[in-house]
Amino acid sequence: SSASNNIVSQAQIQAEPSKILFIDGERKTTYGEFVKRAGQYATALTEKYNIKKGDRVMARVSKTTDTAALYIACLQIGALYIPVNPGYTESEAAHYIKDATPSLLVTCNEDLDQVFRDRISVLNENKLASEAGSLNACTTIEHVETSDPASVCYTSGTTGLPKGAILTHGSLSNNAHDIVRDWGFTSEDLNLHALPFYHVHGLYYSLHCSLFSHSTIIWRSKFEVEDCIKYMKNATVMMGVPTFFSRLLHSKNFNKDAFGNVRVFISGSAPLSVATIEEFKQRTGQVILERYGMTEAGVMTTNPLNGVRKAGTVGPAVKGVGCRIAENGGIEVKTNAIFAGYWKNPKKTAEEFTEDGWFKTGDVGHLDEDGYLTIGGRSKDMIITGGLNVYPKELEDFIDTLPFVKESAVIASPHPDFGEAVVAVVVPAEKVTDEKEFEKKLIGVMKKKVANYKVPKRVIILDSLPRNHITKVQKNVLRDNYKKLFA
Ligand code: ATP
Ligand code: MG
Repeated sequence: SSASNNIVSQAQIQAEPSKILFIDGERKTTYGEFVKRAGQYATALTEKYNIKKGDRVMARVSKTTDTAALYIACLQIGALYIPVNPGYTESEAAHYIKDATPSLLVTCNEDLDQVFRDRISVLNENKLASEAGSLNACTTIEHVETSDPASVCYTSGTTGLPKGAILTHGSLSNNAHDIVRDWGFTSEDLNLHALPFYHVHGLYYSLHCSLFSHSTIIWRSKFEVEDCIKYMKNATVMMGVPTFFSRLLHSKNFNKDAFGNVRVFISGSAPLSVATIEEFKQRTGQVILERYGMTEAGVMTTNPLNGVRKAGTVGPAVKGVGCRIAENGGIEVKTNAIFAGYWKNPKKTAEEFTEDGWFKTGDVGHLDEDGYLTIGGRSKDMIITGGLNVYPKELEDFIDTLPFVKESAVIASPHPDFGEAVVAVVVPAEKVTDEKEFEKKLIGVMKKKVANYKVPKRVIILDSLPRNHITKVQKNVLRDNYKKLFA
């Protein structure tokens, strides 16, 4: 083991102390100041709270640059960082605490989290911040193996209860090096960071791209359209979930003054509709770069920075990553960014790997002749109607381009004859007065576009789609709501 295996060494954040890391409104933080801040947190954790290598620190904290310092401090001392959504209620938080049994919970919800005091130590984030401020910064970096855990990160819980994925120093560093290269990060970049900081997208992909390239982050505590536009002016890169981009398009202020310096917009975490890509291209002249990642395996495929970005695909595999399609359509990957297993669930871990060691992503899709991957949806969301497979994404992409539709989700509903029937859940562009008429119209256009078995048997109209914290559509909720349509 050695200190150089530690992500903190891999990122070499000590290298350029005078370089600006964070621009947080009026406040600027240099790399030197940040390294010191993280070092102070490291001292506080070890000396005041007795946290040692291998211990688990759960962070249910606000999104501030201090949160980034706490994260780096945990890695520096070899402790495991476990981020959870600060918005969780007490009972939701209880699930994670019971599952992860951390030694310490750092929280922004002290009142709510009092109840956990009999089980674990609960520490107010502000108390920790002020304690850290008066301590000497720890400068040593803990020796670790590349296979040592750095974090337990929970999946988004889109298909079931969130699973804790054990991520190692090696897997996180490997992926960071890969995406810095593929997305062309240099020390000149200004990365607009408006993503949540408790999920892989904002915590690992976006933060690491900047840290590993010694560049600057424009730090926003959350995504809000006008705030984002205001702070985009100097940005060269922006990463977001698809709804960030569709919401930006709703603002008149999203014009050249705002996006003039942005060299690339990168989208992931959920499918980006072709309609959004096209509208975005008309407005900005840029094709959003879509990529595909997951908590367990990092960023696996990405459209190229230079080269053809194919709308509706998530691009070819990241260099060094293997991507193949199994007989059942399942996407399988082999990557040096792979997780070390599900926390406390070796059985589940074993189930998700093939005999020859490939990871089953749980998504289905296909590769084209150039090796670009198109995701058809989750295996669990795939519809089998009358023995034929229907990939929801194909239909959603088409439906979303229709002028009378805002967005859609295609799901299966149990059907006595077909096994499952295709159902389109649609948010119309404008208020619908005659729902039957709308249904007929949509089914009519689809009949001309796709084979009969893919045409929805029912169209459901909603004001909005149910989404989880990272804006993924909760198809399990929709499936449950509409399971009796044909009963
Ligand atoms: P859970 O595993 O708990 O059900 P989750 O899979 O949503 O939740 P994450 O690890 O955050 O949790 O998300 C990974 C998933 O996100 C991928 O398996 C894929 O389904 C989806 N995804 C990520 N990027 C894209 C993309 N560009 N297009 C479509 N889907 C994507
Ligand atoms: Mg998943």
